[in-house]
Amino acid sequence: MALPEYFSELASFREHFSEGFPILCYHKIEPVPDGARIKGLYLEPALFRRQIQEMSGANFSFALPGSLTPSQSVAITFDDGFLSNLEAAVPVMNEIGARATNYLVADRIGKTSDWETAEGGEARPLMDGAQVRDWLAAGNWIGAHTCTHPRLSKIPRDRAREEIFSSKKKLEDRFGQPVEHFAYPFGDYDDVVVEMVRAAGFKTACTMDRGVNDQNTNLFRLKRWTARYPTRTLGAFLKKLFQPR
Ligand SMILES: [Zn+2]
Repeated sequence: MALPEYFSELASFREHFSEGFPILCYHKIEPVPDGARIKGLYLEPALFRRQIQEMSGANFSFALPGSLTPSQSVAITFDDGFLSNLEAAVPVMNEIGARATNYLVADRIGKTSDWETAEGGEARPLMDGAQVRDWLAAGNWIGAHTCTHPRLSKIPRDRAREEIFSSKKKLEDRFGQPVEHFAYPFGDYDDVVVEMVRAAGFKTACTMDRGVNDQNTNLFRLKRWTARYPTRTLGAFLKKLFQPR
């Protein structure tokens, strides 16, 4: 059965998720602003609640990325460390008993997602140090997402290496705990980048490639489903209907 392009409700994914370990990817938990260029990076808090409630109701447990045990578990991941994750997502997760990993951009903590401006998106506030500690105190985890959010395969290799290695060290020094999980900014990676992430001492790395993970999945090429709002327009419906996958 053809899967939708994005995860929005469990119904269409139940069978697929039973075939492996799913990882969901979130960004900003706030309403889509008027005129937003990249709408898929936003999710209304009410829809976020519905999705997490659905997973919990279906008896999924909430794990770190890379827990490839056959048990019914899901990893909830957030890229970039947006303030809205603490303000809107944490209360929901606390209530439901869910935990998540947030991939932080080490040199942008307490600043904004300025890399989005160049992509035609909207820079949004990111958690500062105290807010990241609140995120952790609520029972959540952190991972690294480089220092400045570049496309790692497109910059000089020595710079890519620095972005990967320093982000780990900076986050560990600042928050006093091992940082063992990584996510490739923009989902951009190649074989050399993967090896650098492994050499830096990370244990897992998430891509933006779609799919579920199983015992055979390379831990440095974990697949994820981007979670977003359901597409209900007629155009999207017809596109889905006539687009075999
Ligand atoms: Zn990112």
